[in-house]
Amino acid sequence: MIPVNEPFLGDKERVNLLKCIEDRWISAGGPFVEELEEKFSAYIGAGRGIAVCNGTAAIETALYAAGISKGDRVILPSFTIISCAIAVLRRGAVPVLVDSHPDTWNMNVSRIESRITSRSKAIMPVHIYGGCVDMDPLLELACKYDLRVIEDAAEAHGVEYRGKKCGSMGDISAFSFYANKIISTGEGGMVLTSSEKMAKLAQSYRNLCFLPEQRFLHRDIGYNFRMTNLQAAVGVAQLEQIETFLEIKRRNGQLYDSLLGSVDGLAIQHHPDYCRSNYWMYGILLDDALGIDALAFGRRLRERGVDSRPFFLGMHQQPCFQKLGLFRGESYPVTEKLSRLGLYLPSGLTLTENQIHIVCEAVKDALVRL
Ligand SMILES: *Cc1c(COP(=O)(O)O)cnc(C)c1O
Repeated sequence: MIPVNEPFLGDKERVNLLKCIEDRWISAGGPFVEELEEKFSAYIGAGRGIAVCNGTAAIETALYAAGISKGDRVILPSFTIISCAIAVLRRGAVPVLVDSHPDTWNMNVSRIESRITSRSKAIMPVHIYGGCVDMDPLLELACKYDLRVIEDAAEAHGVEYRGKKCGSMGDISAFSFYANKIISTGEGGMVLTSSEKMAKLAQSYRNLCFLPEQRFLHRDIGYNFRMTNLQAAVGVAQLEQIETFLEIKRRNGQLYDSLLGSVDGLAIQHHPDYCRSNYWMYGILLDDALGIDALAFGRRLRERGVDSRPFFLGMHQQPCFQKLGLFRGESYPVTEKLSRLGLYLPSGLTLTENQIHIVCEAVKDALVRL
Protein backbone atom coordinates (compact mmCIF):
# COMPACT_ATOMS: atom_id res chain seq x y z
CA MET A 1 0.00 0.00 0.00
CA ILE A 2 1.38 3.42 -0.93
CA PRO A 3 0.68 5.57 2.16
CA VAL A 4 -0.81 9.06 2.05
CA ASN A 5 2.01 10.42 4.17
CA GLU A 6 5.20 9.42 5.92
CA PRO A 7 7.29 11.93 7.87
CA PHE A 8 10.92 12.39 6.92
CA LEU A 9 13.14 11.87 9.96
CA GLY A 10 16.90 11.38 10.07
CA ASP A 11 20.19 12.08 11.81
CA LYS A 12 19.59 15.78 12.48
CA GLU A 13 16.46 14.97 14.48
CA ARG A 14 18.26 12.16 16.34
CA VAL A 15 21.19 14.40 17.33
CA ASN A 16 18.91 17.15 18.64
CA LEU A 17 16.75 14.72 20.62
CA LEU A 18 19.80 13.18 22.25
CA LYS A 19 20.94 16.67 23.21
CA CYS A 20 17.67 17.18 25.15
CA ILE A 21 18.34 14.00 27.09
CA GLU A 22 21.99 14.85 27.76
CA ASP A 23 21.01 18.37 28.89
CA ARG A 24 18.16 16.99 31.03
CA TRP A 25 15.75 19.41 29.41
CA ILE A 26 12.68 17.70 28.03
CA SER A 27 9.88 20.04 29.16
CA ALA A 28 8.81 23.47 27.92
CA GLY A 29 10.99 26.57 28.14
CA GLY A 30 14.08 24.77 26.85
CA PRO A 31 16.65 26.23 24.45
CA PHE A 32 15.26 24.46 21.37
CA VAL A 33 11.84 26.08 21.91
CA GLU A 34 13.30 29.55 21.73
CA GLU A 35 15.49 28.58 18.77
CA LEU A 36 12.49 27.24 16.86
CA GLU A 37 10.45 30.36 17.64
CA GLU A 38 13.21 32.64 16.41
CA LYS A 39 14.11 30.67 13.30
CA PHE A 40 10.56 29.87 12.18
CA SER A 41 9.31 33.44 12.60
CA ALA A 42 12.36 34.67 10.68
CA TYR A 43 11.72 32.11 7.94
CA ILE A 44 8.11 33.23 7.49
CA GLY A 45 9.02 36.88 8.01
CA ALA A 46 6.46 37.53 10.71
CA GLY A 47 7.80 39.13 13.84
CA ARG A 48 7.58 36.96 16.91
CA GLY A 49 6.94 33.23 17.28
CA ILE A 50 5.07 31.62 20.17
CA ALA A 51 5.41 27.83 20.11
CA VAL A 52 2.45 25.75 21.33
CA CYS A 53 1.53 22.08 21.61
CA ASN A 54 -0.50 21.76 18.38
CA GLY A 55 -2.08 23.71 15.54
CA THR A 56 -5.57 23.73 17.05
CA ALA A 57 -4.16 25.33 20.21
CA ALA A 58 -2.29 27.81 17.98
CA ILE A 59 -5.57 28.97 16.41
CA GLU A 60 -7.27 29.35 19.79
CA THR A 61 -4.27 31.21 21.20
CA ALA A 62 -4.20 33.52 18.16
CA LEU A 63 -7.91 34.30 18.59
CA TYR A 64 -7.35 35.13 22.26
CA ALA A 65 -4.36 37.33 21.47
CA ALA A 66 -6.37 39.12 18.76
CA GLY A 67 -8.96 40.00 21.36
CA ILE A 68 -11.76 37.73 20.12
CA SER A 69 -14.24 37.12 22.91
CA LYS A 70 -17.83 36.33 23.78
CA GLY A 71 -20.40 37.08 21.12
CA ASP A 72 -17.89 38.23 18.49
CA ARG A 73 -18.49 36.96 14.96
CA VAL A 74 -15.55 35.38 13.13
CA ILE A 75 -15.82 34.77 9.38
CA LEU A 76 -14.15 31.59 8.17
CA PRO A 77 -14.47 29.09 5.32
CA SER A 78 -17.12 26.35 5.46
CA PHE A 79 -14.54 24.03 3.88
CA THR A 80 -11.82 23.58 6.49
CA ILE A 81 -10.69 21.40 9.36
CA ILE A 82 -12.89 21.49 12.46
CA SER A 83 -10.06 23.04 14.53
CA CYS A 84 -10.91 26.51 13.18
CA ALA A 85 -14.59 26.47 14.18
CA ILE A 86 -13.89 24.79 17.52
CA ALA A 87 -11.28 27.40 18.42
CA VAL A 88 -13.80 30.17 17.65
CA LEU A 89 -16.45 28.50 19.83
CA ARG A 90 -14.00 27.96 22.67
CA ARG A 91 -13.41 31.72 22.77
CA GLY A 92 -17.16 32.16 23.15
CA ALA A 93 -17.36 33.65 19.66
CA VAL A 94 -19.62 32.59 16.79
CA PRO A 95 -18.33 31.14 13.51
CA VAL A 96 -19.83 32.64 10.34
CA LEU A 97 -19.21 30.63 7.17
CA VAL A 98 -18.22 31.48 3.61
CA ASP A 99 -18.29 28.96 0.75
CA SER A 100 -15.25 27.84 -1.24
CA HIS A 101 -14.11 28.95 -4.65
CA PRO A 102 -14.91 26.15 -7.13
CA ASP A 103 -11.45 26.13 -8.74
CA THR A 104 -9.00 27.01 -5.97
CA TRP A 105 -11.03 25.20 -3.24
CA ASN A 106 -10.03 28.04 -0.90
CA MET A 107 -12.37 30.54 0.75
CA ASN A 108 -14.30 32.50 -1.89
CA VAL A 109 -13.25 36.02 -0.97
CA SER A 110 -15.99 37.62 -3.09
CA ARG A 111 -18.54 36.13 -0.66
CA ILE A 112 -17.08 37.68 2.49
CA GLU A 113 -18.53 41.19 2.38
CA SER A 114 -22.14 40.00 2.43
CA ARG A 115 -21.40 38.12 5.69
CA ILE A 116 -20.06 41.16 7.55
CA THR A 117 -22.29 42.69 10.24
CA SER A 118 -21.77 45.12 13.12
CA ARG A 119 -20.80 42.16 15.32
CA SER A 120 -18.06 40.91 12.99
CA LYS A 121 -14.68 41.07 14.65
CA ALA A 122 -12.32 38.99 12.52
CA ILE A 123 -11.77 37.04 9.31
CA MET A 124 -9.91 33.76 9.39
CA PRO A 125 -8.51 32.82 5.97
CA VAL A 126 -7.41 29.17 5.86
CA HIS A 127 -4.90 28.24 3.17
CA ILE A 128 -5.91 24.83 1.91
CA TYR A 129 -4.09 21.79 0.46
CA GLY A 130 -1.11 23.85 -0.67
CA GLY A 131 -3.01 26.69 -2.31
CA CYS A 132 -3.74 30.05 -0.76
CA VAL A 133 -6.59 32.47 -0.16
CA ASP A 134 -6.71 35.57 -2.36
CA MET A 135 -5.38 37.82 0.39
CA ASP A 136 -5.32 41.33 -1.13
CA PRO A 137 -9.11 41.80 -1.45
CA LEU A 138 -9.55 40.09 1.94
CA LEU A 139 -7.11 42.48 3.61
CA GLU A 140 -8.88 45.40 1.95
CA LEU A 141 -12.20 44.31 3.46
CA ALA A 142 -10.57 43.85 6.87
CA CYS A 143 -9.23 47.38 6.66
CA LYS A 144 -12.55 48.84 5.46
CA TYR A 145 -14.56 47.21 8.28
CA ASP A 146 -11.84 47.27 10.96
CA LEU A 147 -11.61 43.49 11.33
CA ARG A 148 -8.68 41.47 12.65
CA VAL A 149 -7.16 38.90 10.26
CA ILE A 150 -6.16 35.57 11.77
CA GLU A 151 -4.42 33.42 9.17
CA ASP A 152 -4.57 29.66 9.48
CA ALA A 153 -1.37 28.69 7.69
CA ALA A 154 -1.17 25.17 9.16
CA GLU A 155 -0.88 23.63 5.69
CA ALA A 156 0.94 26.53 4.11
CA HIS A 157 4.58 26.43 5.26
CA GLY A 158 6.47 28.15 2.45
CA VAL A 159 3.41 28.98 0.30
CA GLU A 160 3.73 32.43 -1.27
CA TYR A 161 0.96 34.87 -2.13
CA ARG A 162 2.30 37.49 -4.57
CA GLY A 163 5.79 36.85 -3.18
CA LYS A 164 4.74 37.13 0.46
CA LYS A 165 4.78 34.07 2.68
CA CYS A 166 1.49 32.79 4.04
CA GLY A 167 1.37 33.44 7.76
CA SER A 168 2.96 36.88 7.39
CA MET A 169 -0.02 38.83 6.04
CA GLY A 170 -2.59 38.83 8.83
CA ASP A 171 -2.49 40.46 12.26
CA ILE A 172 -1.59 37.07 13.64
CA SER A 173 -1.24 33.57 12.22
CA ALA A 174 -1.32 29.94 13.30
CA PHE A 175 0.79 27.02 12.09
CA SER A 176 0.66 23.29 12.80
CA PHE A 177 3.64 20.93 12.99
CA TYR A 178 1.56 17.76 13.01
CA ALA A 179 3.23 14.72 11.42
CA ASN A 180 1.71 15.29 7.99
CA LYS A 181 2.60 18.98 7.73
CA ILE A 182 5.62 20.22 5.72
CA ILE A 183 7.81 20.33 8.80
CA SER A 184 6.78 18.44 11.88
CA THR A 185 7.40 18.15 15.60
CA GLY A 186 5.08 15.13 15.91
CA GLU A 187 2.45 17.29 17.54
CA GLY A 188 3.09 21.01 17.70
CA GLY A 189 2.18 24.45 16.47
CA MET A 190 3.15 28.09 16.43
CA VAL A 191 1.55 31.50 16.59
CA LEU A 192 3.25 34.32 14.68
CA THR A 193 2.64 38.03 15.04
CA SER A 194 4.42 41.33 14.54
CA SER A 195 2.39 42.90 17.34
CA GLU A 196 4.31 42.96 20.59
CA LYS A 197 1.04 43.20 22.49
CA MET A 198 -0.50 40.16 20.80
CA ALA A 199 2.75 38.21 21.29
CA LYS A 200 2.60 38.86 25.03
CA LEU A 201 -1.05 37.79 25.22
CA ALA A 202 -0.28 34.60 23.27
CA GLN A 203 2.62 33.76 25.59
CA SER A 204 0.35 34.28 28.55
CA TYR A 205 -2.53 32.18 27.18
CA ARG A 206 -0.33 29.17 26.41
CA ASN A 207 0.98 29.25 29.96
CA LEU A 208 -2.22 29.36 32.05
CA CYS A 209 -2.17 33.18 32.04
CA PHE A 210 0.39 33.33 34.80
CA LEU A 211 1.20 36.96 35.55
CA PRO A 212 4.91 37.71 35.17
CA GLU A 213 4.75 40.27 38.01
CA GLN A 214 2.84 38.06 40.45
CA ARG A 215 3.02 34.31 40.02
CA PHE A 216 -0.14 32.34 40.92
CA LEU A 217 -2.37 35.35 40.38
CA HIS A 218 -4.49 34.89 37.24
CA ARG A 219 -6.66 37.61 35.67
CA ASP A 220 -7.74 35.38 32.76
CA ILE A 221 -8.33 31.69 32.11
CA GLY A 222 -5.51 30.25 30.03
CA TYR A 223 -4.39 26.75 29.09
CA ASN A 224 -1.30 24.65 29.23
CA PHE A 225 -0.52 24.76 25.52
CA ARG A 226 3.26 24.73 25.96
CA MET A 227 5.57 23.00 23.47
CA THR A 228 8.25 20.74 24.95
CA ASN A 229 11.98 20.99 24.26
CA LEU A 230 11.75 17.48 22.73
CA GLN A 231 9.19 18.63 20.17
CA ALA A 232 11.14 21.79 19.38
CA ALA A 233 14.37 19.76 19.00
CA VAL A 234 12.75 17.86 16.14
CA GLY A 235 11.31 21.11 14.76
CA VAL A 236 14.70 22.84 14.63
CA ALA A 237 16.17 19.89 12.72
CA GLN A 238 13.20 19.85 10.33
CA LEU A 239 13.35 23.59 9.72
CA GLU A 240 16.97 23.27 8.55
CA GLN A 241 15.63 21.05 5.76
CA ILE A 242 12.52 23.00 4.82
CA GLU A 243 13.80 24.17 1.43
CA THR A 244 14.58 20.58 0.46
CA PHE A 245 11.17 19.44 1.68
CA LEU A 246 9.44 22.16 -0.33
CA GLU A 247 11.42 21.25 -3.43
CA ILE A 248 10.34 17.62 -3.10
CA LYS A 249 6.69 18.58 -2.55
CA ARG A 250 6.68 20.93 -5.53
CA ARG A 251 8.43 18.46 -7.80
CA ASN A 252 5.97 15.71 -6.84
CA GLY A 253 2.99 18.05 -7.18
CA GLN A 254 4.05 19.19 -10.61
CA LEU A 255 4.52 15.58 -11.71
CA TYR A 256 0.97 14.83 -10.54
CA ASP A 257 -0.25 17.94 -12.41
CA SER A 258 1.31 16.71 -15.63
CA LEU A 259 -0.06 13.18 -15.24
CA LEU A 260 -3.57 14.03 -14.04
CA GLY A 261 -4.18 17.58 -15.27
CA SER A 262 -6.00 16.57 -18.43
CA VAL A 263 -7.61 13.30 -17.38
CA ASP A 264 -11.35 13.14 -18.14
CA GLY A 265 -13.58 12.66 -15.12
CA LEU A 266 -11.57 14.61 -12.57
CA ALA A 267 -10.37 18.11 -11.74
CA ILE A 268 -7.25 19.22 -9.88
CA GLN A 269 -6.70 22.25 -7.61
CA HIS A 270 -6.19 25.45 -9.56
CA HIS A 271 -3.38 27.71 -8.37
CA PRO A 272 -3.83 31.23 -9.82
CA ASP A 273 -0.80 33.36 -10.72
CA TYR A 274 -0.84 34.94 -7.28
CA CYS A 275 -0.11 31.62 -5.56
CA ARG A 276 3.11 29.65 -5.33
CA SER A 277 1.80 26.37 -3.93
CA ASN A 278 3.69 24.01 -1.65
CA TYR A 279 1.56 21.08 -2.94
CA TRP A 280 0.96 20.03 0.66
CA MET A 281 -1.64 17.36 -0.20
CA TYR A 282 -2.43 16.44 -3.77
CA GLY A 283 -6.19 16.47 -4.19
CA ILE A 284 -8.46 15.35 -7.00
CA LEU A 285 -12.13 16.21 -7.48
CA LEU A 286 -14.30 13.63 -9.25
CA ASP A 287 -16.90 14.62 -11.84
CA ASP A 288 -20.45 14.41 -10.61
CA ALA A 289 -21.36 12.61 -13.84
CA LEU A 290 -19.28 9.56 -12.87
CA GLY A 291 -21.91 8.73 -10.28
CA ILE A 292 -19.35 7.68 -7.68
CA ASP A 293 -18.34 9.53 -4.54
CA ALA A 294 -14.93 10.01 -2.94
CA LEU A 295 -15.42 7.28 -0.34
CA ALA A 296 -16.25 4.66 -2.97
CA PHE A 297 -13.42 5.87 -5.19
CA GLY A 298 -11.03 5.66 -2.23
CA ARG A 299 -12.02 2.01 -1.78
CA ARG A 300 -11.24 1.36 -5.44
CA LEU A 301 -7.81 2.93 -5.03
CA ARG A 302 -7.21 0.86 -1.93
CA GLU A 303 -7.98 -2.32 -3.93
CA ARG A 304 -5.24 -1.12 -6.29
CA GLY A 305 -2.69 -0.62 -3.47
CA VAL A 306 -3.08 3.14 -3.12
CA ASP A 307 -4.13 4.88 0.09
CA SER A 308 -6.08 8.17 0.01
CA ARG A 309 -8.18 10.40 2.27
CA PRO A 310 -11.51 12.08 1.62
CA PHE A 311 -11.65 15.89 1.75
CA PHE A 312 -12.99 17.82 4.76
CA LEU A 313 -16.70 17.69 5.51
CA GLY A 314 -18.28 21.18 5.58
CA MET A 315 -18.59 22.85 8.98
CA HIS A 316 -22.36 23.29 8.43
CA GLN A 317 -22.66 19.53 7.89
CA GLN A 318 -21.05 18.54 11.20
CA PRO A 319 -23.47 16.83 13.60
CA CYS A 320 -21.63 18.30 16.62
CA PHE A 321 -22.47 21.83 15.42
CA GLN A 322 -25.99 20.97 14.25
CA LYS A 323 -26.67 19.74 17.80
CA LEU A 324 -25.78 23.24 19.02
CA GLY A 325 -28.21 24.77 16.54
CA LEU A 326 -25.40 26.33 14.49
CA PHE A 327 -25.63 26.96 10.73
CA ARG A 328 -29.28 25.89 10.66
CA GLY A 329 -30.71 25.89 7.15
CA GLU A 330 -27.41 27.10 5.65
CA SER A 331 -26.03 25.53 2.51
CA TYR A 332 -22.66 25.93 0.84
CA PRO A 333 -22.90 24.11 -2.48
CA VAL A 334 -19.23 24.26 -3.49
CA THR A 335 -18.12 22.92 -0.11
CA GLU A 336 -20.75 20.19 -0.29
CA LYS A 337 -19.48 19.14 -3.68
CA LEU A 338 -15.83 19.16 -2.56
CA SER A 339 -16.72 17.06 0.49
CA ARG A 340 -18.64 14.51 -1.54
CA LEU A 341 -16.31 14.19 -4.52
CA GLY A 342 -12.83 15.20 -3.35
CA LEU A 343 -9.98 13.09 -2.04
CA TYR A 344 -6.26 13.41 -1.71
CA LEU A 345 -3.61 11.06 -2.96
CA PRO A 346 -0.26 9.96 -1.48
CA SER A 347 1.75 13.16 -1.03
CA GLY A 348 4.48 12.40 1.52
CA LEU A 349 8.13 13.42 1.34
CA THR A 350 9.29 9.83 0.96
CA LEU A 351 7.17 9.21 -2.15
CA THR A 352 9.18 8.17 -5.22
CA GLU A 353 8.61 9.22 -8.83
CA ASN A 354 7.82 5.61 -9.65
CA GLN A 355 5.17 5.49 -6.92
CA ILE A 356 3.53 8.64 -8.33
CA HIS A 357 3.27 6.90 -11.71
CA ILE A 358 1.70 3.87 -9.99
CA VAL A 359 -0.79 6.10 -8.16
CA CYS A 360 -1.81 7.87 -11.38
CA GLU A 361 -2.24 4.59 -13.23
CA ALA A 362 -4.43 3.37 -10.37
CA VAL A 363 -6.53 6.55 -10.56
CA LYS A 364 -7.02 6.21 -14.31
CA ASP A 365 -7.80 2.52 -14.01
CA ALA A 366 -10.34 3.16 -11.25
CA LEU A 367 -11.95 5.83 -13.44
CA VAL A 368 -12.46 3.63 -16.49
CA ARG A 369 -13.32 0.46 -14.61
CA LEU A 370 -15.98 1.74 -12.29
C1 LIG B 1 -3.62 20.41 10.64
C2 LIG B 1 -4.45 21.61 10.62
C3 LIG B 1 -4.85 22.27 11.80
C4 LIG B 1 -4.72 21.67 13.16
O1 LIG B 1 -3.46 21.36 13.54
P1 LIG B 1 -3.20 20.24 14.68
O2 LIG B 1 -1.75 20.39 14.94
O3 LIG B 1 -3.57 18.92 14.08
O4 LIG B 1 -4.05 20.59 15.84
C5 LIG B 1 -5.52 23.46 11.70
N1 LIG B 1 -5.81 24.00 10.51
C6 LIG B 1 -5.50 23.39 9.35
C7 LIG B 1 -5.87 24.04 8.08
C8 LIG B 1 -4.84 22.17 9.37
O5 LIG B 1 -4.55 21.55 8.22
